[in-house]
Amino acid sequence: MEPMFSPPLHRQRHQFVIDFVKRNKPKKVVDLGCSECILLKKLKFHREVELLVGVDINGTKVRKKMYGLAPISTDYLQPTYDQLRIELYQGSVTHKDARVRGFDLVTSIELIEHLTLADVERFSEVVFGYMTPAAVIVSTPNSDFNPLLPGLAGFRHRDHKFEWTRAEFRSWALKVCLEFGYEVELTGVGQAPSGQQEGVGFCSQIGVFHRLGGRDGCHMSLGDEVEDVFSYTLLYSVNYPSLHDSNILGRVLVSEVLYWAEKLKGKWKEEMTGEGNGAHTLRQPEGGEGCVSERCTEVEEKQTACGAEKRNLVEQCGKGASEDQEEEDEEGFWTNGEKRQDSSTLRRSVSVPLDVLWSCCPKVSALSGSLGNLRRLLMDDPQVKLSQDGAAVLVNDQELDFEEEEEDHNDLGDSGYAELGQRSHTAEQEEDWEANVDLEDAALFTGQVGDLFRFNKGN
Ligand code: SAH
Repeated sequence: MEPMFSPPLHRQRHQFVIDFVKRNKPKKVVDLGCSECILLKKLKFHREVELLVGVDINGTKVRKKMYGLAPISTDYLQPTYDQLRIELYQGSVTHKDARVRGFDLVTSIELIEHLTLADVERFSEVVFGYMTPAAVIVSTPNSDFNPLLPGLAGFRHRDHKFEWTRAEFRSWALKVCLEFGYEVELTGVGQAPSGQQEGVGFCSQIGVFHRLGGRDGCHMSLGDEVEDVFSYTLLYSVNYPSLHDSNILGRVLVSEVLYWAEKLKGKWKEEMTGEGNGAHTLRQPEGGEGCVSERCTEVEEKQTACGAEKRNLVEQCGKGASEDQEEEDEEGFWTNGEKRQDSSTLRRSVSVPLDVLWSCCPKVSALSGSLGNLRRLLMDDPQVKLSQDGAAVLVNDQELDFEEEEEDHNDLGDSGYAELGQRSHTAEQEEDWEANVDLEDAALFTGQVGDLFRFNKGN
């Protein structure tokens, strides 16, 4: 049988929520009756959302796919300043829980028809009277549409306790508005074949409720007299990596600095061994450190300011640093703020001035904010070796030991990141008569994110 709706109805309902989120940019969103978290998985990509919560009475359904909400490798490898926390609870919408009060948006998609009418009353009190969100989206089948559904006898799903006509839904919605101080817009998704729309309305009817007084109205009602109840059971929670977390910022910065320092060293070596070798005023003492010379050619093409600055740095480096260098060669160099004397530290290394890194690598300057910050952040990191005066990063001038590298790569024991997330998407087949819905586009991902990040950092 051909699907009646394209896109399938369940996707149209979720798309309706996503469009609302795009327009209204709520920060805290809770999806009631979240089932296998399909809507939440879509919402997590809208990074203006900072707290995303799912609640369902059926813990088995939630557990089935909840790890699909874990951050994926790119979230670790390229974290942004966005913040996102996800929490999933087992609990009933007929019970109160303080952790979901005062949100910007509550969604209840194809949920209320699974409740008895007495429980719908409790749902109204809990959602509109206790949770007091700024907005609520409620979708439920429109029974006026049922005669158009091929082969349907009775309700659309065996667990439905009722299916409302548009008049019944409107009457409930208006009562809620009067009682709890909301206004509602009645709409829907799933258009009838042309010509029949006006007679029967949408296949899924939707009420979009806004609290009178908006978000301020919402917060005003969160008085102390309201009881703090915790009736839900937490099943899963995760914080997405964010550059607001100083550990994450430090790791990304170090990774970037090591990458660029290595790259600039490569450029400099190329210059030294290529044509014009020796024409520079710089020298690289035997067994000691050299100053990076023409090391930001690529960036320079894009940034003239950087190029101008670079020439000064080269001079500076050529005059002053080589003298300091000789001293350092004898003394060893500073590692993580501590001077080390053992012979292994007297290896050849290349000195990449921090101000070169700062002015030539936009990401490094954006992440650190100032040269002083950059120095402070690098001093604290055991992977970075700074020169004695803290003004340059010292990069080993040796070939990478690949065996060692691989060993690191396989060592997951201390990665400190989320366990591997195995993700797969399947469709929620909420409506029996929608049983021929196609599968969600599978976004299969299997990976060990901590491992990838470590590997990247080591490079
Ligand atoms: N919202 C989803 C799934 C709807 S199916 C979607 O968009 O497709 C209805 C869901 O409501 C089921 O997962 C069911 O377990 C859940 N549910 C039923 N009664 C509930 C209650 N009292 N509290 C919370 N969830 C409930």
